[in-house]
Amino acid sequence: MTEVFVVNSGSSSIKYQLVNVETGEPQVSGLIERIGEPGSKAKDHAAGMTIALDRLGDGHDIAAVGHRVVHGGTVFTEATVITDRVQKQIEELSPLAPLHNPANLVGIRAAIAALPDVPQVAVFDTAFHKTLRPEAYTYAIDVKVAARHGVRRYGFHGTSHKYVSERAAAFLGRPLEETKTIVLHLGNGASACAVDGGESIDTSMGMTPLAGLVMGTRSGDLDPAILSYLHREAGLGFDQLDDLLNHNSGLLGLTGEGDMRDVQDAASTGDETAEAALAVYRHSIRHYIGAYLAQLGRLDALVFTAGVGENSVALRAQSLAGLEGLGISVDSARNSAQSKSERYISPDGSPVAVLVIPTNEELEIARQTVAAIGA
Ligand code: ADP
Repeated sequence: MTEVFVVNSGSSSIKYQLVNVETGEPQVSGLIERIGEPGSKAKDHAAGMTIALDRLGDGHDIAAVGHRVVHGGTVFTEATVITDRVQKQIEELSPLAPLHNPANLVGIRAAIAALPDVPQVAVFDTAFHKTLRPEAYTYAIDVKVAARHGVRRYGFHGTSHKYVSERAAAFLGRPLEETKTIVLHLGNGASACAVDGGESIDTSMGMTPLAGLVMGTRSGDLDPAILSYLHREAGLGFDQLDDLLNHNSGLLGLTGEGDMRDVQDAASTGDETAEAALAVYRHSIRHYIGAYLAQLGRLDALVFTAGVGENSVALRAQSLAGLEGLGISVDSARNSAQSKSERYISPDGSPVAVLVIPTNEELEIARQTVAAIGA
């Protein structure tokens, strides 16, 4: 049995899972929260890591630790065994992901301290998007400025988009190389990805995870001139603008609630603000479906995944309403069926298979970790 300890380290949390790579089953999973806060048992990430490892109990033989790392820039296009140099490179990429890479690195250092003899592997959220062509990743600004500062689209949620698009082809019994898929990863963060023959050809997040779809607390796409406008007119500084767009926008900004269930509950009791926010959310999903249909030229599968995508019957049905002319339709009985399995929600014979496929980023990280250490 090969067991991989998968770690997703945030600024004040460690999410962990011990995965049996052969069966794909999680052996143990958990979350250490409020690290460093007063009264917390975990005074720092090292203490948090020790608590997490203690919770695994005895009798485990951890083959490797797989770390989720958000930004690999153009440096890391594969899961990579972590050396001192790799740590330094992840640190150097921090300006591109100041909220994430430093926190990921703290988790890496804590795991190395706790398990010094176990190989540690970094699995990057950006890596699956290495196949984007220049026309998909280039922002049309002065090339010298862009090159000097690494300004381009990188894309995120790659581990999920890779896992889900591969599962979609397998579910349909089609060769991955011939399958064209749009994946809608709708969680607190959300992104769309156009996958052609197993390769990402376009994705809605950009240089940072702020771009694209409307999210729980993030704005998604907006006119870039809004930033300088608000700076001039509202006197907001850049840190305030960053905070506004990352933490106080999206569903939260529109309604005061960042959690989809709360917004839907409010809408179902007739709250017009909540219903208007849901309409904005759906509009951005339809925008990307249309865009990626055109980029792919044909579509085999449209896949919903992550918290909202896997669970919200209403969001799925309403987002796709009226798209029959594009070959996309939803069977309401299939869509409403309670299930945690991979499933069709389109009717038989529909030109595009609409699917729900639960994502499993931990399993994908564990598999890539094993591949990286050559076990
Ligand atoms: P993260 O991006 O943090 O991994 P998840 O993928 O767990 O997040 O998604 C969290 C989102 O999923 C929240 O907005 C939550 O409200 C939403 N969600 C979970 N269950 C449901 C449900 N039954 N109906 C609607 N939304 C749901």
